[in-house]
Amino acid sequence: MDNKEKIHNKLMDIVKEENVKVDEMLRDHLYTKLGGKADFFITPTTYEEIQNVVKFSKEEDVPFTLLGNGSNLIIKDGGIRGIVINLKHLDKISSEGNTVVAQSGARIIDASYYALEQHLSGLEFACGIPGTVGGALYMNAGAYGGEIKDVLDYAYVVDKEGNLVKRLASELDLDYRTSNIPDNGDIVVEATFNLKPGNYEDIKAVMDDLTYKRESKQPLEYPSCGSVFKRPPGYFAGKLIQDSKLQGTSIGGAEVSTKHAGFIVNKDNATTSDYIALIEHVQKTVKEKFGVDLEREVRIIGEDAE
Ligand SMILES: Cc1cc2nc3c(=O)[nH]c(=O)nc-3n(C[C@H](O)[C@H](O)[C@H](O)COP(=O)(O)OP(=O)(O)OC[C@H]3O[C@@H](n4cnc5c(N)ncnc54)[C@H](O)[C@@H]3O)c2cc1C
Repeated sequence: MDNKEKIHNKLMDIVKEENVKVDEMLRDHLYTKLGGKADFFITPTTYEEIQNVVKFSKEEDVPFTLLGNGSNLIIKDGGIRGIVINLKHLDKISSEGNTVVAQSGARIIDASYYALEQHLSGLEFACGIPGTVGGALYMNAGAYGGEIKDVLDYAYVVDKEGNLVKRLASELDLDYRTSNIPDNGDIVVEATFNLKPGNYEDIKAVMDDLTYKRESKQPLEYPSCGSVFKRPPGYFAGKLIQDSKLQGTSIGGAEVSTKHAGFIVNKDNATTSDYIALIEHVQKTVKEKFGVDLEREVRIIGEDAE
């Protein structure tokens, strides 16, 4: 039996057989529709299964990577070695009093609409962010003046030893599109949001307005990873890119969106290499024209194709 077969068998002891896939094509799980294969792709159904995967990964020295909704990730064409964990089966959302509790595989959009149904205000900003709750905490996702930091009370995580641990929002170092979740090696499994009672019609009006703004400004008709760059202090990334006359510039099938300069779209069967080359071209051009360093918001992971 080779090592890959051994790992496969062990993973099928930890999570249900139908929830372990080998050589899974990751582009099918990513917003950009880019990226190679994962050696193992698993979708646990309980927190205990996640804990056991983490312990197995540590004991056997097999790396793991979390994949949420793939809306802020670029995965290289060579894919990801080891285990990719996706929490799509852990997607329950509930409420108690003024809180909404969401498992980390739930979409943050669904948590936002769930809060609306409970007449709770605070998650309106998230009604169009296409990530999971776990990905939203990791990135401290935000839009239109709101961010996760404003509403998160606490989260449950599986830490790097495999323990289920409660972390208060204040312990997560939530800041502009960042947190200490990667540094700690935590897997977010559940989040509790502290909201305020509100009027259904008022909350809905805000969400409708944000949805209109998003749909009219963003190139949602093409695969993308949203805004590629963070907002540089004192500037807007989109404006710098627009003023550099980069809109419509393409490398292979990747193009700087003509609708929203901050987006790079996969217009025509791009490869990850096209996408990354275009990101670097934009960074270089903006630096030359305006002397500003554009820092990526989107994460690039995985291996180059051989
Ligand atoms: C069209 C479009 C519009 C967007 N608009 C916005 C916006 O307005 N505001 C905004 O902030 N972002 C926006 N984004 C980016 C993206 O949706 C957010 O960053 C989102 O929070 C990412 O969540 P995800 O589940 O897709 O994470 P992924 O892209 O799957 O992963 C992102 C990172 O989080 C980690 N991760 C995922 N789940 C977990 C977990 N459970 N535990 C630990 N780590 C985890 C991954 O390992 C990875 O490093 C947009 C993207 C697109 C495509």
